[in-house]
Amino acid sequence: MEELKRMMDLLGISEEDAMNLVLSGVSPSQPGGVRQAWRGMDYYGRSAPSASDIWGLYVEADFRCTECGSQVRTTVDHIDGNPKNHDLSNLRVLCLSCNLARRRGRGVRFPNRGLTIYRFVVAHMGEHGEFPTNRQILDGTGIDKLAVSTYLVKYLRARLVTVS
Ligand SMILES: [Zn+2]
Repeated sequence: MEELKRMMDLLGISEEDAMNLVLSGVSPSQPGGVRQAWRGMDYYGRSAPSASDIWGLYVEADFRCTECGSQVRTTVDHIDGNPKNHDLSNLRVLCLSCNLARRRGRGVRFPNRGLTIYRFVVAHMGEHGEFPTNRQILDGTGIDKLAVSTYLVKYLRARLVTVS
């Protein structure tokens, strides 16, 4: 909790913002929306289990990813990789990062990518008193390229570097 409090202070995040983010992050996908999406796409065979069956999967999984236990951005995954096989025994709850990693057929390369970058930047600033270069961030975190995190780094720089 102390690290969370510090992050909120450093980034100027209000408690209400943080609480709203937590709730939106852990809210499961709307079963009706999942059902509608699957029924609307050839990829999913234009069929889907009932909304209550989909909800039942979440309840059974305690609203957690069945791989890593995270409650953040959970999705419904087809275990055998066949998006048309909606047999309930073929469905499980996975968080988005485990689901994407599985679809790409490899492990999650950088789970908590943003958090890893944040922690590195804060530690680096504490140690050196200045914001790290992109190269230092990549070398320090082991991430191969900033890509989707480019604007997170820009945001952190804008928030953490006080111009005097
Ligand atoms: Zn997961």
